[in-house]
Amino acid sequence: MPLQAARAFGLLAPSGHTPVISDAPTRKEHRTASPIVLRAEKLTKRYGRFTALDSLDLEINAGEVFALLGPNGSGKTTFLRLISGYALPSAGKLFIGERDAITESHSVRGRIGYVPESAPLYRDMRVEEFLLFMARLRGVREVDVGDAVQRVAKQLALLPVLNRVTGTLSRGYRQRTALAQALVHDPDVLLLDEPTNGLDPRQIIELRSIIKDLKGRHTVIMSSHILSEVARTAERVAILLDGKLLGVRAVSDTPDLEDWFLSLT
Ligand code: ATP
Repeated sequence: MPLQAARAFGLLAPSGHTPVISDAPTRKEHRTASPIVLRAEKLTKRYGRFTALDSLDLEINAGEVFALLGPNGSGKTTFLRLISGYALPSAGKLFIGERDAITESHSVRGRIGYVPESAPLYRDMRVEEFLLFMARLRGVREVDVGDAVQRVAKQLALLPVLNRVTGTLSRGYRQRTALAQALVHDPDVLLLDEPTNGLDPRQIIELRSIIKDLKGRHTVIMSSHILSEVARTAERVAILLDGKLLGVRAVSDTPDLEDWFLSLT
């Protein structure tokens, strides 16, 4: 199970065999003076002859909520997987802060929290047990593990369910548990792949408010194919289609996101 979890959350190098992960850098090491937290240069991912992400150039600012918008198969998950370290690029460069995410992936992973589209939560584990396990897996120092779990449990209102088995939780609580595991090491960058999938309207509203609370302290990069969701949650939006970046806009400068989207796609 540990290796499975490490892989699922992008904590195991795709070609490597080292399940442990991050240096769990301290907050002082974490924060960068640069407003740019992520920079992709001609970032490309090919699967055989198929190009899933094509020469992507993009900069994401520290503390913003940034959305990747595009139809199914446009390359959103591929990009998130490259950032998380789950997959390696075929070409191009990727920097997290000042660090090269490919050559210094070990230290970069400690700065990333990843919630995959269908996050495996190990349905027979209790929430607290799962979060303790993930905190250790993410390299949180043993002496800090208990506090880290309490912090995220409070932040995501999980205290009442810490003793529940994850398999018996509602979809909303499962989503929050998945978010908690991604935040337990206090990462700079939080990756959310289609976070509203499967949530009911009330849960979507709750999630939106959680994301708003997280911004500033964390940079949130989320993928979505729902225009209205992106307009309500993100500050900037990138449109992807067939692995290509078609444009980036501030939501506040784009009164009609739908028109812009249609004009590009
Ligand atoms: P969705 O919303 O459906 O998840 P997406 O925008 O996240 O779509 P990706 O999952 O990044 O898209 O997929 C981009 C393209 O790359 C798709 O055509 C997909 O079939 C292909 N692809 C993804 N992973 C692999 C893989 N491991 N092997 C081959 N092709 C892949």
